[in-house]
Parts: sequence; structure tokens; C-alpha cells
Amino acid sequence: MILLENAVRGIYAPDSASITSNSPVGSPFSEPLSEKPSVALSARGLSKRFNDFPAVDGVDLDVHDGSVHALIGPNGAGKTTVFNLLTKFLRPSAGRLWFRGQDITTASAVDIARMGIVRSFQISSIFSSMTVLENVRVALQRPAGLAHQFWKSDSAMAQLDQRTFELLDEVGLDQWKFELADQLPYGRKRALELATTLALEPRILLLDEPTAGMAGEDISTMTRLIRKVSAGRAVLMVEHNLSVVADLCDHITVLQRGKVLAAGTYEDISSNTEVRRAYIGDDDA
Ligand code: ADP
Ligand code: MG
Repeated sequence: MILLENAVRGIYAPDSASITSNSPVGSPFSEPLSEKPSVALSARGLSKRFNDFPAVDGVDLDVHDGSVHALIGPNGAGKTTVFNLLTKFLRPSAGRLWFRGQDITTASAVDIARMGIVRSFQISSIFSSMTVLENVRVALQRPAGLAHQFWKSDSAMAQLDQRTFELLDEVGLDQWKFELADQLPYGRKRALELATTLALEPRILLLDEPTAGMAGEDISTMTRLIRKVSAGRAVLMVEHNLSVVADLCDHITVLQRGKVLAAGTYEDISSNTEVRRAYIGDDDA
């Protein structure tokens, strides 16, 4: 238990010798599958206590490249807290995280964003008084960030324009490019947010309830978009709509009271009695 305590205490003390990327000594948790090339993001023993309340309690998770992975569970299960831990909005009370085998337990929010772990809708990314096109351009200039001068050359501007049009096309907003963002219907606004997130070239895309507040047509459009953008990257999404999950997600992790209740394909988890009782049963009713 001393090892565990040291590891937990060492999590945010980079000077501490008790945790290093490959230290077997400081590894009280089971090892991740992240040596497999297809595992983009791994968590082991991920935990978060608020005061004494275990909001997230020993969660293990592997998100694979090219897959759309859903995090589901009843309200209060800990889904948003897991998201906040993965994106470093919160510090874990215990547990470890890896990105393609690299230990990112102590990495900062900025570090992991640079690595390409990007949460959509985190940036409040839409400028309502700009056009759709201007919004995407601005988002594309963001990764260049401090290299502001870079955008002054003609070839850089041409590249920027080309990528802007590609992204508009990718999310189906080409015909809307001269509209003010404010004038877009809700579903297209979410598509624009997705475009501004894709501008950051995410390798792992985290989506917290991408279809929230949508109905009918908008849901199928967003589902199609997510499937499209998952090619060549990993997507982890919190989703309440189980038909979206069934349709879109090939891996599902069910949380209940901060713990993993079940994990697997939609068929696996929908035939699990505990899951039906805790979650799906409720929903069917
Ligand atoms: P979900 O997203 O699955 O609905 P959350 O991750 O938002 O669940 O919350 C999990 C539990 O942790 C809930 O009981 C919630 O009240 C609690 N919780 C979340 N954030 C905080 C916080 N900042 N302080 C105290 N308790 C919190
Ligand atoms: Mg939530």
C-alpha cells in the first residue's frame, strides 16, 4: 500500500521519483494495453473524489484508433468527470493515463491539447458575429498560434484557404459559408463547432453529448459527421441517445456510481442484466 500512496501522492509532483513513465516500481495499477498500436488513450484506476465522495472510482478504459467509443450511464454516473480527467480539466485523486503508450498522468491541459487530445465544445468556439467561413479560418490560425507572422506569406494564406474549404466541405457547411454563425440553425451550429475542433487536427476527439438538444434530421446528420471524422482518429463520446450509440459506437463503457458496470459492444452491454436494470431498462420503459 505504500507504493500506492506514493504513486498517488506523486501524480502531480513531477520531481517525485515514485512515478516515471516506465517505472514498474511506481505502477500499482494493472498495465494498459497501450503497447498495442491501436490503443490511443488508456486509463487505469482513474479516480476522482470530491471531498469524500467518489465521483469516479477506479475506472479502466481503452480507446482505440478508428473507433467511436461511447461512455454511457445514468445521471451522476461520473461521465463528465471522466471527461474532465481525460482532458486535464480536473486532477485525478488516483490512477494513470497513457496516450499511445506515453504516460500523460502528469501532463497539463496544454500539453495534451498539443498532442492532439481535443475536446469539442470546450472552446466556446463560435464567434456569432463572424461568418461560418471566418470562424473556420480563425480556428485554423489558432494551432499556428504564436507563429502569427507565418500567416502573412501568400503561400501560407493559400494553404489556409484550402484547408478552410476542406473543413467546410467535411462538415457539410459549404453552402452556408457566408452566413453569420448566429443565423445558423442549431444543428448546423454544432457542425460548425465540430469544424473548428477539427481545425486543431485532433488525434483523439472527445465529444460530450454531441447530439444534445437535437432531434430527427439533425441527429442523423451529426451521427454521419462523427462517423466520417472518426476515420483515422479515435473518438470518445458521452451520449444519452441509445439509438445513436447503437448506430455509431463500436465500443461502449457503462458507468454507474463512478465505476465501470460493463464494457463491450452494444450487443454485449444490452444483453447484460445489470446494465438493463441500471440503465437500458429504465430507458426502454
Ligand atoms: P454524469 O456526467 O455522469 O451525469 P458527473 O460526472 O457530472 O456525472 O457527476 C458525478 C457525480 O459527482 C455526481 O454525483 C455529481 O454530483 C458529483 N460531482 C460532479 N462534479 C462535482 C464537483 N465539482 N464537486 C462536487 N461533486 C461533484
Ligand atoms: Mg454529464
